[in-house]
Amino acid sequence: MGIAASVLKRFHGGIHPDGHKELSERCAIEPMPLPKRLVVPLHQHLGAPAEPVVKEGDKVFKGDLIGKASGFVSAAVHAPTSGTVIGIEERPVAHPSGLTMPCVVIESDGADAWNPELKGIDDPLAPLALDPAVIRDRIKNAGIVGLGGATFPSFIKMSPPRDKVVDLLLINAVECEPYLTCDARLMEERSQEVVEGIRIMLHALQTRACVIGIEANKPEAIEIMNKAVAGNSDIRVVTLPVMYPQGAEKQLIEVVTGRQVPSKGLPVDVGVIVHNVATAVAIRNALRLGRPLVQRIVTVTGHGIARPANLELLIGTSVDDVLAHCGGLKPDTVKVVMGGPMMGLALHQTNVPVVKGTSGILALLRHESSGKKEHACIRCGNCVAACPMNLVPCTMAWFAKTDQIELLPDVDLFDCIECGSCAYVCPANIPLVHYFRFGKISWQAKERENKKRELTKQRTRSREERLQREKEEKERKKEEMKAKMAAKKATGGTAKVAREEA
Ligand code: SF4
Ligand code: SF4
Repeated sequence: MGIAASVLKRFHGGIHPDGHKELSERCAIEPMPLPKRLVVPLHQHLGAPAEPVVKEGDKVFKGDLIGKASGFVSAAVHAPTSGTVIGIEERPVAHPSGLTMPCVVIESDGADAWNPELKGIDDPLAPLALDPAVIRDRIKNAGIVGLGGATFPSFIKMSPPRDKVVDLLLINAVECEPYLTCDARLMEERSQEVVEGIRIMLHALQTRACVIGIEANKPEAIEIMNKAVAGNSDIRVVTLPVMYPQGAEKQLIEVVTGRQVPSKGLPVDVGVIVHNVATAVAIRNALRLGRPLVQRIVTVTGHGIARPANLELLIGTSVDDVLAHCGGLKPDTVKVVMGGPMMGLALHQTNVPVVKGTSGILALLRHESSGKKEHACIRCGNCVAACPMNLVPCTMAWFAKTDQIELLPDVDLFDCIECGSCAYVCPANIPLVHYFRFGKISWQAKERENKKRELTKQRTRSREERLQREKEEKERKKEEMKAKMAAKKATGGTAKVAREEA
């Protein structure tokens, strides 16, 4: 099948943070009672926000389109339950700056009724008879995005450029972020759905090999998936050593295939398409059940939550409702994070909705949370050794901190995947990723400013050139007029003399 069983490499750097998976790994997936109200952001994917196609007062079924994709890199948004649209308004969402975003607010009618026109197909083999273009369209219309957290619209990944040969579909079931167990539970409880999703993707990509990468700390998931793929000679489960951030695309590809994605390149440049394991199930549900992406599995955990769980949640469910359903926060909780502890987002407030990219909600006590006092860098080099992208984090942070923004591209700041490995090992507790984000934003702002300045310069230059052209044209016309007048005068004079002589 192309990828030899022995090709297990190591990527540079990486760390071994405490897993804390035991808090929720035995918690079976459970649905949460239907919330009264759902707040669905129109922008919950990488790319342009969706445009609302409903208005206040509209009745909707579960699965109805409420926001249509507004560009190539964009994803549709659907009603997570049946009910009435009671507003399209700015609401707080999980955002690093605590910003609000346009959201469709739906009051549930309690029926949670799917649109009856959304039809499923009983036969699991039926999607495999569809044209790959039809499958891509259905994935697009279902609003499916990468559920590992990156939220890149999935249909784009399913449409590799014609000049690229894809010889491997790599299923990312690594779940290397500490605490999170939703992907492991999904594999343990819905392995056949995972395999169905993979079969559909292989058919759509016209690719003949698939590897499912799972870290060794999930033995049950490995065993169950091995059983589920038996009889599929083109799908193989690969057990990976436990290492963070192995779930990052470039690192996973290197470990499984030995291929290195070039800087600024994409997995498809080395013949690989990577999809998260939960995305495979979402694709299966879209093709087999005709259902768009309106719910996902979320791990609710951390020592600050009374009852850890793996919940199947409707998109738009409030984090407050989720925390209450899990028994509430313990009094000494210091931080609530959306996502994993390494790459997740610390929430400014908990009245924000669960979105397609929400893999976890963590309630952390002081000892689980960073937040120690920052000291000066001691140039120990730990961060350099830990960086999976071969960067020099201490220098990058120094340039960002001291406002030497123009030097940041020289140290490849934009190759940083913000995995947090460097900050994790830093003995000086320097919040390195914070500086990198600040550096990236400052660089982008500076670039925008430079472009604006260049545009103004160009406009001024064009105006001056136009004025000069107009001046020259005026002069030319003036000269022409003068010449005409002189000629006329001369011709008039000659005619007069001729008349007098006659
Ligand atoms: S956050 Fe960036 S600099 Fe730090 S280890 Fe990860 S990739 Fe390297
Ligand atoms: S790990 Fe921290 S203290 Fe050590 S070199 Fe990097 S930034 Fe400096």
